[in-house]
Amino acid sequence: MADASVRGSCLCGTVKFEIAPPYSAFRYCHCSRCRKASGSAHASNIFVPKAQFGWLAGEAAVKRFRLPGAERFAVWFCGTCGTRVPHEVPGRGDWLIPAGILDGDPGERPQNSIFWGSKSPWYLEPHEHPRFPEYPA
Ligand SMILES: [Zn+2]
Ligand SMILES: [Zn+2]
Repeated sequence: MADASVRGSCLCGTVKFEIAPPYSAFRYCHCSRCRKASGSAHASNIFVPKAQFGWLAGEAAVKRFRLPGAERFAVWFCGTCGTRVPHEVPGRGDWLIPAGILDGDPGERPQNSIFWGSKSPWYLEPHEHPRFPEYPA
């Protein structure tokens, strides 16, 4: 893949893949589905055209959950460690990459936050509270 490609992997290292820019989109999604699937305030999703995504290892270990009734939402995860991994977006030519599992800098930055109206009531922008490089001192 191109020189600018970046690799990603799950927590246990079974699943590995790579992607190459330019991406179709890079955004935070605060919708209730993404909050549940990520267990966090929002998902950080990179969308990449099919030709710019490739598995490097562990594709057979990937478990697939398709939310009944959902048009495009799906959750694919490593069957060993449970880390969410990339999935092909139904009906689109793109793959969704959970940005948090990349092992390098994807080069591009998030363009926007969507489903802001669905954001969690406890969500604060990081600049609104103290930040520490690691645990609080
Ligand atoms: Zn894993
Ligand atoms: Zn979402």
